Amino acid sequence: MDLATVLLLHKSSFIVGAICFFYVRWRSKEPGLDFLAIGYGLLGVASTLAGAGEQGTLPYEVWTFGSFSIGVTGYSLMAMGLLRLSSRQRKPSGWLLLAIALSLSAIVGGMHWHADNQARAAIFNANTAAFLGFSCFVVLRDFFPERLPARLGLLASLAAAMVFSTLVVIKIIAPQYGPIEARYAFFMLIICHFSIALFVIVLVQERAEAQLKHLANTDALTGIPNRQHFLASIPNQLRTGDAFIMIDIDHFKGVNDRYGHEAGDVVLVGVAQAIAAVAGRGCMIGRLGGEEFALFLRDQTEATAFAMAEQIRRAVNALGFASGKETITPSVSAGVALWRGDCSAQKLRDWADQALYLAKRGGRDRVELHANLPSTEKRSFSVIPAADIQHPASGQHPRVEQRAA
Ligand code: GH3
Ligand code: MG
Ligand code: MG
Repeated sequence: MDLATVLLLHKSSFIVGAICFFYVRWRSKEPGLDFLAIGYGLLGVASTLAGAGEQGTLPYEVWTFGSFSIGVTGYSLMAMGLLRLSSRQRKPSGWLLLAIALSLSAIVGGMHWHADNQARAAIFNANTAAFLGFSCFVVLRDFFPERLPARLGLLASLAAAMVFSTLVVIKIIAPQYGPIEARYAFFMLIICHFSIALFVIVLVQERAEAQLKHLANTDALTGIPNRQHFLASIPNQLRTGDAFIMIDIDHFKGVNDRYGHEAGDVVLVGVAQAIAAVAGRGCMIGRLGGEEFALFLRDQTEATAFAMAEQIRRAVNALGFASGKETITPSVSAGVALWRGDCSAQKLRDWADQALYLAKRGGRDRVELHANLPSTEKRSFSVIPAADIQHPASGQHPRVEQRAA
């Protein structure tokens, strides 16, 4: 492949990439895409200048310094764009990269190194490899908090571009150690530019899909999994040790009636968060509807499942929500059921529901275990001390504490 064709393709890879980035930026509003678009655009301009210079249509000083400084700036903006896109930073960041590029341009211009083809190409490609290496680090670092498969493709494309830029530098500085011709490394860089653009677009797409999925699975008010997602997450095959806990806020209608729906919402969110905090990452949690929550746990015994429900009840008891001069102190009732070989997930939920009903009937602010086990197994663990349980009278409003003045 002749140099003119390689230069034309080189320029095209940046122009196509810049157009794609501008388009995706317009559609998605993800951070960093504008920097990527401008960076690729500048690289297209730098490549055009170099091509025009090689054909002798521009003064030597103009195209050498112009292509160097614009190219270096382009790569710095590209790295800034990737930094912002990868870590979803909307606030200004990465300006140091631009400062490095501008300083390097000033030094090269001041020292007149741009006039030396070898020196210019070596510094340019070494700087490119450094910016690409930084981009690789950022994309890899953010893979752990955001595991999008496109990150791996983007990482591979950036790493390949970094390697080929380094090979160009080696070929210039020590030709005897350069494993491939600079022309071929250059051609491979064109493919890398296309694939970087492609994987950036796929990453934006995958991120949007993940967001949609999260929205579809999450309860908008409390931020915990919604009913559909919770029920769909329960395994088809239940086994010994599986447990279901149903939780319901006591006299919640009274909270709404007395303090208003907005205060009710605040209480709902606080209770949901308390339940989620106690449950931790080990079990599934969901808002089944209204002021009803559920937990699905594996590898439980009667005692551990009961203890978990009890821990939740106490955690909710410890909450307090200010409403004017009063404090709303909610309580919950919970029903626990453990799986046995002959029941479906639906049956297990019904049992937990029945236990919850018992807890309500027994005075609320308490936990009940569904008594479907053989009598020898029943309550073989210690039940909470009676003194720890406060039973508001049935039908009463939620406890309201007068705040100290
Ligand atoms: P119990 O102790 O028997 O559970 O009594 P309760 O008042 O909690 O039960 P009930 O089923 O009579 O009332 C539930 C209330 O929950 C009624 C409804 O207005 C309220 N509720 C359901 N969803 C929401 C919500 O998203 N926000 C608010 N603020 N209230 C809600
Ligand atoms: Mg209730
Ligand atoms: Mg209810």
